[in-house]
Amino acid sequence: MSALPKSEPAVPTVKLLIDGKFVESRSTEWRDIVNPATQEVLARVPFATPGEIDAAVASAKTAFKTWRKTAIGARARIFLKYQQLIRENMAELAAILTAEQGKTLPDAEGDVFRGLEVVEHAAAIGNLQLGELANNVANGVDTYTVLQPLGVCAGITPFNFPAMIPLWMFPMAIATGNTFVLKPSEQDPMVTMRLCELALEAGIPPGVLNVIHGGEAAVNAICDHPDIKAISFVGSTKVGTHVYNRATLAGKRAQCMMGAKNHAIVMPDANKEQTLNALAGAAFGAAGQRCMAVSVAVLVGEARNWIPDLVAKAKTLKIGAGTDKGVDVGPLVSCAAYDRVNSLIERGLADGATLDLDGRKPTVPGYEKGNFVGPTVFSNVKPGMAIYDQEIFGPVICLAGAETIDEAIELINSNPNGNGTAIFTQSGAAARRFQEDIDVGQIGINVPIPVPVPLFSFSGSRASKLGDLGPYGKQVILFYTQTKTITERWFDDSTVSQGVNTTISL
Ligand code: NAD
Repeated sequence: MSALPKSEPAVPTVKLLIDGKFVESRSTEWRDIVNPATQEVLARVPFATPGEIDAAVASAKTAFKTWRKTAIGARARIFLKYQQLIRENMAELAAILTAEQGKTLPDAEGDVFRGLEVVEHAAAIGNLQLGELANNVANGVDTYTVLQPLGVCAGITPFNFPAMIPLWMFPMAIATGNTFVLKPSEQDPMVTMRLCELALEAGIPPGVLNVIHGGEAAVNAICDHPDIKAISFVGSTKVGTHVYNRATLAGKRAQCMMGAKNHAIVMPDANKEQTLNALAGAAFGAAGQRCMAVSVAVLVGEARNWIPDLVAKAKTLKIGAGTDKGVDVGPLVSCAAYDRVNSLIERGLADGATLDLDGRKPTVPGYEKGNFVGPTVFSNVKPGMAIYDQEIFGPVICLAGAETIDEAIELINSNPNGNGTAIFTQSGAAARRFQEDIDVGQIGINVPIPVPVPLFSFSGSRASKLGDLGPYGKQVILFYTQTKTITERWFDDSTVSQGVNTTISL
C-alpha cells in the first residue's frame, strides 16, 4: 500500500461510485492492481476515507425513500436491460477480469455468465416477492403479509469471482427494493466497476448502487454503520466469522459464505475417464482458486489404483497466461498467494504425504515473472497434515483412501467445512446413500462443482457458512425483506357491536 504519487498519471485510478457519480477518492492510501501473469501494474485502487464511506451510505439512504416505492415492473425492466448490456459487453468484461485476476478467458466468461444468470433472476424476482393471505382467520378477519425491503444493504466480495459474486449481491438486493453499498475485493475491482457502469447505463438511479473500496477498515465501517441493515459477505472463514460477529452484534442481518475443503468420493464403479476429467477440471481449473474446487478426492476400494491415471491427466493441462489460447491453468492471483501455496506444498512433504506430481516452478515462456504453480497431486494425505487441514486455494489435489463408502462419508463429515462435495459412481444406491448421510450443504452426483443455478440458492453449511439464508434463489427474498403481517377487520352498518372485549381474541 502506498500514497498515490502525483507524478505517475499514467496508471489509471479506480473510482468510487457515490450518488450516481464515479468520483476520485481523496484517500492517501492506495494499492496497486497487478496482472498476475506479468506483474504489470494495471491501475491503483484507493482505500476510501471514513467520510467517503459515510457519503456512500447517506446517498443509499436517501435513494431508498423513492426506490422502495418504485413499481416492480419498472425495477424488472432495468434488470432486463442490464442482462442485455452484460451480454453485449461479455468479451470486454472477460478481458478485464483475466488481466487483473489471471483466470483463462473462457473461464472469465463463465464467471461473468454465472453472474448474468443471477441478473436474469433479479428481473423476475417479483414472482417470488409475494406475501400470503389467510381469509377468515376469525369472524370477518383476514391476515396477510407483505415483504418489504429493509433499506441500505451492503456486500463485501472476494477476489476469486470478481464478476459473479458482486452479481450475486446487488441485483438481488436492489430488485427487491433495497439500496446498496458494495465493497469489492481490493485485489481485482476493475471488472466489478465495469459491471457497475453497465448497471447505471441500464437505468439504476443515482444512490441506489454505491461502491467504496478498501480492506479491513472499510469492512469494519460497514459492519458498524448504523444505517446499514444487512450485509452479504463472501470470502475466507476467518474474515467472514469476524464480519458475522461484528455485524450481528450491531443488530444487522448477515449472511457469510466462507472457506471450504471440498471432498469428492470416487467409487470403483465410477466411469473412470469421466471421473478423472471431472476431478482434474475441478481441482486445477481457475488454478484451484474456487470455493467449490475439489481439493480432496477420497478413492474407495479399487479406485485407489487410479492415482497414476489422475497424474497423467493432470500432466495434459497447459499452464500459461489466461489470455493465451488453449491454456487450462492460469497464474495465482498474487505473489502472496504464490508464496502461500508453495509453502503449503513444502509442508505437505514435511508432514509425510507423497508428492506424486510437483507443480512448483513450471516453465512458462514469455511469462517468467508470473505467479504460476502447475497441477500438483499429493497422495497418502491424512487429517492433521497442513495440506488437509487448511484451504490451499491453489492447483493442489490431496488424495486419501478408504475401504468403504461409510469410511469415506465419515471422513467428510468429520471435516469442519461443509461447502460442497461430490460422489462419482454408477450406483444409484450409493449415490442416494451419500446424499442422505453426508453433512454438506451442496452435493454433486457425478457433478464435480455443484454450484446451484439461481432458481435455487448457494447452500454451503457448517464452517463454510454463517447465517441461515442463501445469497440468491427463493431464500434471498427473506434475507433482503422484512415480513409485515397485517390482520384486518372492516365494519359496515350491518356489523353488530360486541362491546368491549378484554380477552385476547379476535
Ligand atoms: P478474504 O476473506 O481475504 O477477503 C474477502 C473480503 O474481505 C475482501 O473484500 C477483503 O477486502 C476483506 N478483508 C480481507 N481481510 C480483512 C480483514 N482482516 N478484516 C476485514 N475485511 C477483510 O477472501 P479472498 O482471499 O478474497 O477470497 C478467497 C476466500 O473466499 C476463500 O476462502 C474461498 O473459499 C472463499 N470463497 C467462498 C465462497 C463461498 O461462496 N462460500 C465463494 C468464493 C470464495
